[in-house]
Amino acid sequence: VSLAFAISCGTPKAKFSEREKDPITEKVDSVLKLMTLEEKVGQMNQYNGFYDVTGPAPSEGEASKKYENIKKGLVGSMLNIRGVKEVKAMQKIAVEQTRLKIPMIFGFDVVHGYKTVSPIPLAEAASWDLKAMEKSAEIAAAEAAVAGLNWTFAPMVDITRDARWGRVMEGAGEDPYLGSQIAIARVRGFQGDKFDAFHTAACTKHFAAYGFAESGRDYNTVDVSDNTLHNIILPPFKATVDAGVLTFMNSFNELEGIPATGNKYLQRDLLKGEWNFNGFVVSDWGSLAEMIPHGYAKDLKEASMFAANAGSDMDMESYGYLNHLVNLVKEGRVSEDKIDDSVRRILRVKFLLGLFENPYKFCDETREKETTGKQEFQDGVLDMAKKSIVLLKNENNLLPLKKSGQKIAVIGALANDKTSPLGSWRIGADDNTAVSFLEGMNAYKGNSVTYEKGADVALGNPKFIEETKINMTDKSGFDKAVAVAKNADVVIMVLGEHGLQSGEGRSRSEIGLPGVQQELLETVFKANKNIVLVLQNGRPLTIPWAAKNIPAIVEAWHLGTQSGHAIAQVLYGDYNPSGKLPMTFPRNVGQLPIYYNYKNTGRPSTDNPESVFWSHYTDVENTPLYPFGFGLSYSKFEYSNLKLDKNSFAKGGKITVSVNVKNNSKVDGKEVVQLYIRDLVASVTRPVRELKDFELTEIKAGETKTVSFEIDEKTIEFYSAKKIWEAESGDFKVFIGGDSMTKMEASFNFSN
Ligand code: BGC
Repeated sequence: VSLAFAISCGTPKAKFSEREKDPITEKVDSVLKLMTLEEKVGQMNQYNGFYDVTGPAPSEGEASKKYENIKKGLVGSMLNIRGVKEVKAMQKIAVEQTRLKIPMIFGFDVVHGYKTVSPIPLAEAASWDLKAMEKSAEIAAAEAAVAGLNWTFAPMVDITRDARWGRVMEGAGEDPYLGSQIAIARVRGFQGDKFDAFHTAACTKHFAAYGFAESGRDYNTVDVSDNTLHNIILPPFKATVDAGVLTFMNSFNELEGIPATGNKYLQRDLLKGEWNFNGFVVSDWGSLAEMIPHGYAKDLKEASMFAANAGSDMDMESYGYLNHLVNLVKEGRVSEDKIDDSVRRILRVKFLLGLFENPYKFCDETREKETTGKQEFQDGVLDMAKKSIVLLKNENNLLPLKKSGQKIAVIGALANDKTSPLGSWRIGADDNTAVSFLEGMNAYKGNSVTYEKGADVALGNPKFIEETKINMTDKSGFDKAVAVAKNADVVIMVLGEHGLQSGEGRSRSEIGLPGVQQELLETVFKANKNIVLVLQNGRPLTIPWAAKNIPAIVEAWHLGTQSGHAIAQVLYGDYNPSGKLPMTFPRNVGQLPIYYNYKNTGRPSTDNPESVFWSHYTDVENTPLYPFGFGLSYSKFEYSNLKLDKNSFAKGGKITVSVNVKNNSKVDGKEVVQLYIRDLVASVTRPVRELKDFELTEIKAGETKTVSFEIDEKTIEFYSAKKIWEAESGDFKVFIGGDSMTKMEASFNFSN
């Protein structure tokens, strides 16, 4: 039976009723029937790109072996092959030279844009604008898809509470509710609704709990309770399953002493069982093999057995499945049913993407040329970048800047950098393709702008520092910086982290301004106090001195290709900022992990200043520097009249809660109105506050808007002592405001 025949006929009536509903299942089974065990295992093997595929085939070494294996049908997927020409060349081998002609699926880390780069995901999360984030993912997907790619390793939905962890830049911050909404938006953006040639399969990662690495050190041990796992970490993962995500990636860390890649509970019982996920799970890079140093598997063969039995469907670059899985099946240590299940899932995704019908669906050179970097995408990432900016402080109305007659001094290496704003994880884009801050400022002509570097910023990795000969202690530029500052009406200092100082493998133990930037800031401040501090960074920073002394602070993250224009437009007031922090800014590293949805202890606080017996530090406050949900605007929003339509509801019922928000200023603006609840007494202790809803709303100057939310059983559900999701009877508080520390509250009761 030929493949084409099998696909067009399908098998005779499928056995299970659920299969009958899904015509793809029949097609999948018809292909599976044709496959040898070796070919099945081949589908479960993913290779990294290995040589210039458009050139002649390699004749020896690792590359030649990989090439031969593709021809034998032993490779189901590749990653890091990119561009129509390359993808086409590889796909051609799969569909012309292998026995069954099964197309490969091509994965790539399109984390926040491919060529046209949008803000880092943490920055986007600060917009709280779900539509904008969906659009941003859609732009990323389109540009990747026209470059031949059909699978992105995003979104990363790991919740995280420790800003030392470099990968916080890749996620949506610390909150499970906001994180879930954003995860859904991103999956929708990447995948679209009909799997056309401008969308990709998405991949929810890293399953699970990778963001809870101890001490924020990447890849470190994770040790979390069931309570935290279910209430905090898992909700965004589950949300993407419900949103129809096609693939999942597991993670490097262990959980309950079992590496995630070999974790049957996570992958088979929860994800594929309870949650009914019918896509496939890819391992993280080499994570099968990492089970050996973890001390869980004695060799690669055993690691492969654990991974296959636990439900890891595809092996990324460990070569464990390729080398051992056939024998493991023959020895009876992995059942062929499990292999079949994995292969079905992989083939199903390939069918859904339309690769069987047209393996070159994503390979159209004209479309690639016409689509890549187009104006619409530039406009889209600019819009997203403006929405991601958070105004942290604005005293004396220093902002917005006057448009003419001003002498402006711009200081800081990052201001003149066209690569750093692209941030980490933008491997599709070229260096030097971002609009620098200076370029953004120079697009405005009315003021005179002078620039001084002041001090250098390193790329995070000591090896880079060495190679680029960056001297992180060099203060020789300070004098010139002070001189331009003295002569200026306003000084804009662009400080923070280089784009590659956060991201994978880039944890930091101190998270202040790197190098001598803090000293530069304090030195310039002595010469001119009119400073606007523009922060560019991939994680919350500890900036207590700046928060106290500098009159205006703008959090501008790493904003992507259009970074400079976005920041300048906000500083000049052509865009009124509305971003809110998706992650708490600590006062110092000793407070970590710090997060708004903490729990009370038995010693929450005391009025007695003499007492030492309460839960606190003797050298720093408990409160954060800037709380979750916080962000200012050029408008001034005033909240009043918090109202509940009733004070209690029972199972099946609901309460409507409303509040008035007045824009008491002369500028139109947008506000993220946030709703939090607290469950006062429960079968397991509950956080002091939990975000449960929000609305991003435009309010004209002088206008008052009534914003309302509904509270029902779903709002108050949690993973209880019974180890199920349920709403328990009892008393609750509801809080509404413009950040997580809002004082505006009311009470209600729920009876089950
Ligand atoms: C990362 C993943 C990424 C993969 C492929 C790993 O090191 O943890 O997030 O998708 O590499 O590049």
